[in-house]
Amino acid sequence: MSTMKDRNLRLESLCAKENKTSKDAAPHVTPIFASSAFTFEDIEESIKVFKSEKEGYVYSRFGNPGFSAVEEKLAELECLGIEESAHALLTSSGMSAISTLLLTHLRPGDTLLTQDNLYGGTTELIRSVLAGQGVKIVSLQLTDPSAYRKLISDAVENHPEAKMMYFETPSNPTLICTDISELVKACQEAGLSTAIDNTFCTPYLQQPMKLGVDYVIYSTTKFLNGHGNAIGGAIICKSREQKSKLWHYLKLLGTNSNPFDAWLVHNGIKTLALRMDRHCHNALELASYLESHERVLKVNYPGLESHASHKIAKKQMNQYGAMLSFELDGNMLNAKKFMNACKLCTIASTLGNIDTLLLHPASSSHLNVSAEVRKSTGITDGLIRVSVGIEHIEDIIADVEQAIQKALA
Ligand code: PLP
Repeated sequence: MSTMKDRNLRLESLCAKENKTSKDAAPHVTPIFASSAFTFEDIEESIKVFKSEKEGYVYSRFGNPGFSAVEEKLAELECLGIEESAHALLTSSGMSAISTLLLTHLRPGDTLLTQDNLYGGTTELIRSVLAGQGVKIVSLQLTDPSAYRKLISDAVENHPEAKMMYFETPSNPTLICTDISELVKACQEAGLSTAIDNTFCTPYLQQPMKLGVDYVIYSTTKFLNGHGNAIGGAIICKSREQKSKLWHYLKLLGTNSNPFDAWLVHNGIKTLALRMDRHCHNALELASYLESHERVLKVNYPGLESHASHKIAKKQMNQYGAMLSFELDGNMLNAKKFMNACKLCTIASTLGNIDTLLLHPASSSHLNVSAEVRKSTGITDGLIRVSVGIEHIEDIIADVEQAIQKALA
């Protein structure tokens, strides 16, 4: 939109000048707001926005219309079916969601209660970075809900500086489930806040806030985006005050999202329900096939009645998810041969994409987790993790079958 004023400018200025887009354009799909900063009508408006007397955008590290669109959607999904509202913040990755949450709430001398079987990066973050900052880490076995009350009250008695319980369910990569509502009850009685990594489930399969959890974090890199083309994370909380405290840390730590990745996750969420239905259907079929296979020693999938956490999963999940892990009747070499022999399923150290992905936890995601912790959490050298995709299930099973034959020949 050229103006009279523009015609008075020289070439260099016209090149450098930012042309305003038409205010009448109303895009159907939220566009990418690729702008580091935002302008104001005048200095008075700028002052009001800076003083928080008026809502507005200043600088994309603080917020961006594209981030807000996703944040509002995630908050709505999280509080679906409950009276309370939820508030969300997008972050640059799942790890930055976790680090922002923990750095906002924990100080040197505080204690964090958690479990051993967490995502490997989270274990490393809390055991090296947080512990290095003087936060005490106490790991508990969260497998028996009837023991939670005593377990938590004993832990708080021994560590009166305990502030928060941080957990994952189902856990990575053995899919052990924690009973969310029982754990929340025990933590509330002991005066602890609760935070969960709900990446494996998304709000479509499990709604932790409905069960009383205070903070929910996501790696949106996984199922929420679903297409494996963006890194991102999110923190969901219950109140404006909590959000504003988290936002203060986020903008100073610089753990903000970016316009393109926010736009990609926004697109991905639109097909979440369709994708998750197919992921879950395929995973249950593959788990059942593997369970009945004579050359497979063990299958970890919460949808199988044989899985130690089946009852808990049934109670709190709408379906059983896309993640499973299994052990072949062989050693580490056979597990590696299996992975190399797959043609449709791909080796990739991520999960939640539309195609089936394989990972060998002991040599990748959990490489820096001590052998002792690996052993105690069932991460054997032969364990293979599968993120089951949305391909035709018969093609997935045919690929796995031919790879098992080659690996154990
Ligand atoms: N939480 C879980 C359960 C994960 O699997 C991952 C990554 O694999 C993360 C958090 C970290 O997410 P990101 O890679 O987006 O930082």
